[in-house]
Amino acid sequence: MSEVRTDRFVTGTVGRLPRDAVLAGAHALAALGGPQVPDRAADLADLAVSGPRDVLLASRAASRGGGASVMSSGGTTGRPKLTYVAHHQALERLLREWRPLAPGDTLLNLFTPGRMWASHYYMQSLAERVGCDTVPTGPYGPGEVADWLGIFQEVGVNTLAGTPTSLADFARGVLDGGSGGAPKVEKLIWMAEPWAPAQERAVRAAFPGVRLWGNYGSVETYVMATNTPACDLQVLHLMPDQLIESDDAGALLSRAGDGWTVPTVRYRLGDRVAAAACRCGRGDGLRVLGRADDAVSVHSVVVRVAEVLDLVRAHPGVREAQLVLTRADGEGRAAHTVGELCVRYAGDAAADEVRQLVLRGFYHLGAVARGHPEAVTAQAVARVERVGRTDKIPAAVWRGCPG
Ligand SMILES: [Zn+2]
Repeated sequence: MSEVRTDRFVTGTVGRLPRDAVLAGAHALAALGGPQVPDRAADLADLAVSGPRDVLLASRAASRGGGASVMSSGGTTGRPKLTYVAHHQALERLLREWRPLAPGDTLLNLFTPGRMWASHYYMQSLAERVGCDTVPTGPYGPGEVADWLGIFQEVGVNTLAGTPTSLADFARGVLDGGSGGAPKVEKLIWMAEPWAPAQERAVRAAFPGVRLWGNYGSVETYVMATNTPACDLQVLHLMPDQLIESDDAGALLSRAGDGWTVPTVRYRLGDRVAAAACRCGRGDGLRVLGRADDAVSVHSVVVRVAEVLDLVRAHPGVREAQLVLTRADGEGRAAHTVGELCVRYAGDAAADEVRQLVLRGFYHLGAVARGHPEAVTAQAVARVERVGRTDKIPAAVWRGCPG
């Protein structure tokens, strides 16, 4: 006689976990110094949200015995968050379902090394585990690429790994240098940023037929979700034994089982995440909508940085873009209160065209701009600002911080 117990699992926005495993994980995390578990906790919602301090304690404890690399995230706008990333980097779990590399490949690792950023070392370890060759270079500006193409062809580079920004830079260098002497690139491994349309166009033009393999993760959690060439480019699939709760203040990640770099219970990610279907037909798809803290108030009109950039980057004359935000005068310490929003972009679109695009796309900004023309502007530049440590394009750059 069997009885189906429908309450055995906790379901989230994406994924599901055995209820017992969630509670066991919460008790384990509490024993490592994480949030205490209420006596009557019976469901995920009864458990406290955890944060960077919990990840630091749990990752340090979980990696004793095998050792770890101390890695850091953030630090651009706040104090860096430290994580002990176990040397195994959860590759066993990852390789069960995501295998972008094979033994005969040669990987050009364009992720920036050093400065406690994890992606470069993750790619090195993945190549080592798979048994393929790797060329650990870090990123190149488009103007540098031509001088190196002969070497990359000589060693048989067929796969590139990097942020979409670094991959697009490399692709533009190949396109500018002509196709003679360029390696035959078949695969790209990407993470850490969403693709802008012009970046995708550049890599597909430079490397016809190229297949894209993506990850969604963070230094604190390591890989959470994966994307294959069969997937929509914006959809990633949550790996098994995990659950994500959607939340406007930042999605919450919970995990069960062993083999992760760090156990987590309701760990607050910095991103907004939503469930999504994918053309590949696999389940547990998600979309990363943008940073959770990216809402800004422009003369009392609230917009999200990611939504403005999605609109601007879709313009065929915009290669890359970011917002330059100037804090409003005389409005005290209110965070995210903007006096002037400037769309800074690279590309051949006219500045007024880009400005009008934003004013039409965000009706209330249009109303603000009629009274305060300086409140919304656009400026073309040769290259938008990068984060030196990661070669990523920050979505927003703040100017004029009050003292
Ligand atoms: Zn898919």
